[in-house]
Amino acid sequence: MGWLLLSVLTLSLSIAMASDSTAMLDLAKAINPVANLGWTGSDPCNWKNVDCTNGRVTAIRLPGQNLKGTLPSSINSLSMLSILTLQGNSLSGPLPSFSGMSSLQTLYLDGNQFSSIPGDFFRGLTSLQNVSLDDNPFEQWLLPSDLASADGLVLFSASNASIGGSIPEYFGGLQSLESIRLSYNNLTGGLPASFDKSSLKNLWLNNQRGPMLSGSIMVLGNMTFLTQVWLQTNGFSGSIPDLSGCKSLFDLQLRDNALTGLVPSSLMELQSLMNVSLRNNKLQGPYPQFKDGIKVDNGKLNDFCRYDPGVPCDDRVMVLLEIAAGFGYPAAVADAWSDNDPCSNWLYVTCDPQKKNITVLNFANAKLSGTISPSIGKLSSLRSLILSNNNLTGKIPDVLASMPNLQSVDVENNDLFGEVPNFRKEVTLKTDGNPLLGTTPAPGRGGSGSGSSGGSNSTTPSGMPTTSSITGSGSPTGVIVGVAVGLAVLMLIGVGVIYCVRKKRHQKFRRVQNPPSLLNGGSVPSDLQSIKVELSSLNGNGNASEQHSRASSGPHMGEAAGGSMVISIQVLRLVTNNFSEENILGKGGFGVVYKGELHDGTKIAVKRMEAGVMGKGMNEFQAEIGVLTKVRHRHLVALLGYCVEGNERLLVYEYMPQGTLGQHLFDYAQNGYPPLSWKQRLTIALDVARGVEYLHSLAQKSFIHRDLKPSNVLLGDDMRAKVSDFGLVKLAPDGKYSVETRLAGTFGYLAPEYAVTGRVTTKVDVFAFGVILMELITGRRALDESQPEDSMHLVTWFRRVIANKEKIGKVIDPVIDLDEETYKSICTVAELAGHCTAREPHQRPDMGHAVNVLSPLVQQWKPTSTEDEDCFGIDLDMPLAQVLKRWQANEGTSTMTLMEETSNASIPPKPYAENFLSKDGR
Ligand code: ATP
Ligand code: MG
Repeated sequence: MGWLLLSVLTLSLSIAMASDSTAMLDLAKAINPVANLGWTGSDPCNWKNVDCTNGRVTAIRLPGQNLKGTLPSSINSLSMLSILTLQGNSLSGPLPSFSGMSSLQTLYLDGNQFSSIPGDFFRGLTSLQNVSLDDNPFEQWLLPSDLASADGLVLFSASNASIGGSIPEYFGGLQSLESIRLSYNNLTGGLPASFDKSSLKNLWLNNQRGPMLSGSIMVLGNMTFLTQVWLQTNGFSGSIPDLSGCKSLFDLQLRDNALTGLVPSSLMELQSLMNVSLRNNKLQGPYPQFKDGIKVDNGKLNDFCRYDPGVPCDDRVMVLLEIAAGFGYPAAVADAWSDNDPCSNWLYVTCDPQKKNITVLNFANAKLSGTISPSIGKLSSLRSLILSNNNLTGKIPDVLASMPNLQSVDVENNDLFGEVPNFRKEVTLKTDGNPLLGTTPAPGRGGSGSGSSGGSNSTTPSGMPTTSSITGSGSPTGVIVGVAVGLAVLMLIGVGVIYCVRKKRHQKFRRVQNPPSLLNGGSVPSDLQSIKVELSSLNGNGNASEQHSRASSGPHMGEAAGGSMVISIQVLRLVTNNFSEENILGKGGFGVVYKGELHDGTKIAVKRMEAGVMGKGMNEFQAEIGVLTKVRHRHLVALLGYCVEGNERLLVYEYMPQGTLGQHLFDYAQNGYPPLSWKQRLTIALDVARGVEYLHSLAQKSFIHRDLKPSNVLLGDDMRAKVSDFGLVKLAPDGKYSVETRLAGTFGYLAPEYAVTGRVTTKVDVFAFGVILMELITGRRALDESQPEDSMHLVTWFRRVIANKEKIGKVIDPVIDLDEETYKSICTVAELAGHCTAREPHQRPDMGHAVNVLSPLVQQWKPTSTEDEDCFGIDLDMPLAQVLKRWQANEGTSTMTLMEETSNASIPPKPYAENFLSKDGR
């Protein structure tokens, strides 16, 4: 029997040895060059760099041998192999499955050219300890659940290895795991909660590509073995945890994330720390001061109250940050609160006129979660606290009831619970929409304050109803808010209506001083109520002939813009539903455009500039925008007003219900629009030409748009066009919106001389207009990368094709209904388009010429026009010079002070007729 067993064992060993030999021979065949490896003879156990035990292959060590070739699929029959190190070669092709190599402990395949990794690669690799797969051009793959059974895993390193998906929870359960190195992958999601049980020392997750890692990093606080943490260049948010338990942490890289809140003092005091980076987050509070000798990269680009290490922030700042802590330091709050003076127009915060004491906190619709901090009680000057329409939970802190100046509290539509504190009778309290308010907190729910009992959400402890109906006669807030909103609405309606007022006088907005009674009066809690704007309708002599009180705005409204229209961020928040996503109309190079809706349904468009997009300081911005608000024409989208508060720069435009020309010309099918007829296209072309001609003729040295393109041609419900965004490019700082930047984005519209030299004349707009004409004719974008290379650039292709008149048909948009008359009209416009896009600026016509060519074509379809009515005293049939004179007379003195030519403000503009006649001899 013993003999038989021995025979079987011997036989199976020989079979295994034979299969090892086969696998090794396969390997020797698949990789090259093998000549210098010392792999000679038939027994692999005699080969160099190969170890055997009892005739079985246990280790293959071939790092950095310049090997090419692939790994054969028979490699997984090396069932005793415990070490395979092939790093730093040029091995390629798909990795075979290593499934079943249950002895494999060390596997180094990094720095090769392997193209993919099979799904069952790690199946049964239960002995794995050290794995490195970094720097291979794999197809994207996910970390498989098979790895969970490698419970002796110490190092898992696969940076730059195309790993997608999230970090698996099982990593936290692998008790031996010390190092996870997964930088430069495509990982998403958050840090696994299971990490708090791990013994991880080394965590490299930096620079994820694509959507990146995100969420909180709080779990780090429980990972007490950590020595090195690289989380830089991801999307982590929330605050930095208390890392005082991480006694061995020496390297902490957190830069380039979206972390908020204070830098914990425990971090600055951490003895082990040698190297830390916090740059480019949204960190707040005092600028951190680390011990001497620590390598720190705090850098700028955070929201610290000031940038002097260790210098404390203003007390008010610290209180507000405690309040923000209750909400979990939301990013929007961090963005809005970034200096040391909360009374310098911080969002959500209103102060008294002396700009010292905080009087209003208004967080309505701010998407807040978390709890209401009792620190609010420290703001003894607070009159109004608005927290409505958020997801706040917990209790209303009792301390609020003892705030001496508090007059109104609105916590409607949250998820609060517990007893409502016993507020003074005079306090207007709104608590509707909190179904659990008045109940005992459910187990496990946080809360800020003591326990609670009894009551219902419809009554306060004092027996008063807590609904909005509580705003009785003794409590003016609701009425005032209502009046203020009404006033705001009226003001904005006035603004919206202004452009079609058919009176022959010009209206303009002017600020009046804040009535002292309102500013100082104890009964008005919000800046919405504290300021009035006067809409004065001026008569021809510039005297105010009538006044309508209009609500809104903040104490920062300045006269810098000479009577221009300043609107406060609170009003803009109100009308855009707190800049909600549903209100987004689109996004451009300067920021996001939101739709705003007034109570009566009147709509506006609010362009909220991205921070830093406007290079100009506040005064310069106001001065230039102030000018732009005065440029009014039927074919220019009116800039109705603006807002400059803190870092916020917003522009308010009239709303154009049919969106952009681009949406109707190129994306009509996706948007559910019918294609534009030729007649509509022609009308739009003429509208644009008139708008731009008007700009060009405003001052002697002209006012140049510089960014004419279909997304800046907006349409009304009648499909008539207006040009928008004139003057914006000039406002941007050099880098952000430079010729170079724009070359990449809107290359197709840039005149060659502008692209090459940056030289700007009106002919730059004429060129861009020519491109728009080509787009109207062809239905093709200025730059269309889906086209073959020779027709990708519209101008080049179009000019080449129409050089042969017979071929014009080739360029016409196939969706245009073509009859003879249309064809002729298109030929004329095609010729004009060619003319406008002439290489040399001096060969291009003036915009006036374009108007003259296009208007008879439009008339052809519309012999009796009813559109030439007067608007702002501008009659389009009247020669421009005359129009301008009249307009100037109406406007008073400053209105012709245009951006390009402030010093020549009083020089009359060059009449269109003169331009045209001198060129064309007509
Ligand atoms: P650029 O920043 O170069 O002007 P753009 O025109 O594409 O590029 P925005 O001007 O910011 O970008 O406008 C973004 C989008 O918002 C537009 O494409 C349009 O759909 C919408 N939009 C802008 N202004 C208005 C408006 N007054 N009325 C209606 N929609 C508007
Ligand atoms: Mg635009």
